[in-house]
Amino acid sequence: MRTTVGPAPVLHLRGPVLLGPDQEIPEAWVVDGRIRHQRPELLTGTEIREIDGYVVAGLADLHCHLGIGDGGGGTTLEAARQQAVTDRDTGVLLIRDAGSIIDTSPLQQQSDLPRLIRCGRHLARTRRYLRGYADEVEPEDLPEAVTREAVRGDGWVKLVGDWIDRTAGDLTPCWEAEDFQAAARAAHDAGARITTHTFDESTLPLALDAGFDCLEHATGLTDETIARTAEAGVPVVSTLVNVGEFESYASQGERKFPDYAAHMRRLRASRYDRTRDAHDAGVQLLVGTDAGGVLGHGIIHDELDEFARAGLDATTILDAATWAPRRFLGVPCLEDGAPADLLVVPEDPRSDHRALRERRRVVLGGRVVA
Ligand SMILES: [Zn+2]
Repeated sequence: MRTTVGPAPVLHLRGPVLLGPDQEIPEAWVVDGRIRHQRPELLTGTEIREIDGYVVAGLADLHCHLGIGDGGGGTTLEAARQQAVTDRDTGVLLIRDAGSIIDTSPLQQQSDLPRLIRCGRHLARTRRYLRGYADEVEPEDLPEAVTREAVRGDGWVKLVGDWIDRTAGDLTPCWEAEDFQAAARAAHDAGARITTHTFDESTLPLALDAGFDCLEHATGLTDETIARTAEAGVPVVSTLVNVGEFESYASQGERKFPDYAAHMRRLRASRYDRTRDAHDAGVQLLVGTDAGGVLGHGIIHDELDEFARAGLDATTILDAATWAPRRFLGVPCLEDGAPADLLVVPEDPRSDHRALRERRRVVLGGRVVA
């Protein structure tokens, strides 16, 4: 179901156009859905719309769940579409879906929605994740499940690496070292990359040893695993709004699992320091909202505010939300000829990330959508 509409007018972006942290050009044009760095040859009478403001590539949300409803459970495809529209209208034009319950692939055909890169379904250990979200497997079936999700998804597989262990009464890794290794091997053999949901300190060395390509949440980073993550060039998708919610997990678990509750509170309390330390050590941070399920959609600007609270400067925040994730996923930014997926904002977002909230235009595939 591709939306059919007439030709879009040519846009003249009067800039500046921010191509990277230290690279800008004064102006650009949008013709036939693509960005052009030079004034195009146009037939006389072609409508040109002039737009003033700073131009940046559309925001990327690397940890988003389309198709999971409020409080869990799969949505209809139409409801998943509405979630994507909500995100789009805040300026998110690239989503890596970090696990969905329903098949959201039909949304990829809808040209008015953000570009979507799917992880397929979460893979988790039996009864070691939110009920109903994941495909729950035991270690002997894990490699086969990874291969299956690698084929179903768009080059990404997501493994839930740790969760509360009710017998131990605390967070523990859900898998042994050899399971992480077998999972990474299966993903890589299938030509996919693999990421892991991780809160606990002891999961990170296992994922790093196994050669995982990305880390989600990573609240348990220590000085040692920060150094290793930087050294390996593995990015961390910070989901600080979600980590702020750890207090509610802690108080829910308090009575039966006091160690778990205390652990979650410690992780929450150290979230800003850990994020800043990781950045200072050279770890590439990427922005994720974890929208869908517990958190609603449309919250990317709250997540960017959290990055600022962690002490990161505006250019670092912009990098984590635009250039770095696009590079990491192999999606173009604003190179000449790239798809025109961009925002126009009134002030320089390299000086203050909050300029991204004051969007003048959201342009997707060359069309003004918001
Ligand atoms: Zn998530």
